[in-house]
Order: sequence, then C-alpha cells, then structure tokens
Amino acid sequence: MVMFNQITPVYPHKLRRLYGPFLTLAESYRTVVGTVAGSFGLGENRYTIPRFTFLGPEIGMPQKRIGLFGLLHGDEAACAQALLKLLQTLADQPELAKGYDLVVYPVCNPTGYEDDTRHNRSGADLNREFWRNSSQPEVKILEEELRTQNFDGIIALHADDTCDGLYGYSHGRVENENLLLPALQASSQILPLDLRTMIDGFSARDGIVCDCFPGILSPAPDIKPRPFEIIFETPARALPVQQAAAAHVALLSILSSYRSLISYAQNL
Ligand SMILES: [Zn+2]
Repeated sequence: MVMFNQITPVYPHKLRRLYGPFLTLAESYRTVVGTVAGSFGLGENRYTIPRFTFLGPEIGMPQKRIGLFGLLHGDEAACAQALLKLLQTLADQPELAKGYDLVVYPVCNPTGYEDDTRHNRSGADLNREFWRNSSQPEVKILEEELRTQNFDGIIALHADDTCDGLYGYSHGRVENENLLLPALQASSQILPLDLRTMIDGFSARDGIVCDCFPGILSPAPDIKPRPFEIIFETPARALPVQQAAAAHVALLSILSSYRSLISYAQNL
C-alpha cells in the first residue's frame, strides 16, 4: 500500500493579514470578484497568487481589460496598499472605472512578502525572469495570465529604495505623453518627482525613464495587438501611506487618460 504524505496548506499570518481586506471587498461588493491565478508549494506551505477583478460599468462596447501588478518584489508593501486603495475607491465610485475590467494581482511574490525580501525565497528577482523560460512558479503563473487574459494594458507598481521621487516607464511616445506624464503630474501633488537625468542606470527626463531591464514583467512577446505597458515607481523611503496615495492617484489618472485616448482615436 502506498502511503501519501498529506500536506496541509498552511497560510502564513502575514499574508493572511494582507489578503484580508481584499477578501472583505470581494465579499461585500458584487463588482469585486476574488479568484486565484495559481498556487505553488514550497516546503510545507502552499502559496497562492490571488487575482481580484473589478467589473466596471459597461458603456456599450467591449470592456478594456487592464492588468495591475504589485509586490513582484516582496519588500514593496506600499504597492499592494495602493491596489487595495484603488479597489476600495472603485467599489464606492464605480463610474471611475466605466468601460474597464481591472484584473488586480496585489501579491505577485508571496514568499518575498512573507520574508520581507526583494527576491523570492528561492533567491530569484522575479522581475528579471519573464519570457526567459523561467522555472520560478510565480513567473510561470503570471506568464500564463499575461498570455490568456487579453489585456489591453498592463501596469506594474514598484517602490525604489535608490530614489527620492516618483518616476515611471512606458513603452512608447504615445503612452509617455498621454498616460504616464499626466499620471506623474497628478501624483506629484503627493510626493515629488525624480527629476534626475539618470535613474536606475537609464537616462531619464521629467521622471520618465527611457528604457528598462530585460526580463521585466511585460506582455507576451508575440501578442498582438500589443497592450500598453506602464511601470510606476514610488520612492521606497517615503512613508508607505504616501507611496500608496501617490500610486492610487496615478492609477486613477491612467484610467481616465486611457479612456480619453481611446475615444479620441475612435473619433478620428
Ligand atoms: Zn520593485
């Protein structure tokens, strides 16, 4: 007779505390749907990558699907707080997300969050592993999401401990001028912009970085049409509540700007 070693999932308290308010929203509002993108075992624990979808009011055309990603680096807790704040705002003011379905991944690196480390528990920087045949389970789960969720745009939140101001990256001039720049301007009411000409080793202007590292979370290489992609960085040394507030304002700005951009393009 074969004896199976039963592994009972044990969810660490720290993660449970983080998930709690998201689950409360999903229980309280029909517009917030809580699911799981995937899970993986490590030691005796089972870790999940949760996915919360906000179903915005429909406006008579296909909903735009935006993927929002936080805590790819486990020591950037303010990013998850910004995503929680966004869902809370939208639950009470759904019209701010009219025409959108927002797919929110607040915890992309659960073991890093548990350990308060940038890397996951296996020592990998997940944000250098995408589309490189990574063996990291978090990356495999998220790549599958990026392949199958039909995103029109993806936004990744980060906190940088080498800067004193807000900055961002997007993948093209149209996105820079129409989405990222207004988002930086709006959030600069809360924290200053990083106006250096070199940020994180890349040349930069007005808080917009012109390039990024290979292997970052991004749309699948062969996907067409290509979703817009934005990275928004807050200064990790600022108060977490301020970082979350700045990123929250930036996200609302991007939703508003992208809606204007689409309707402008449709009226051409
Ligand atoms: Zn980061």
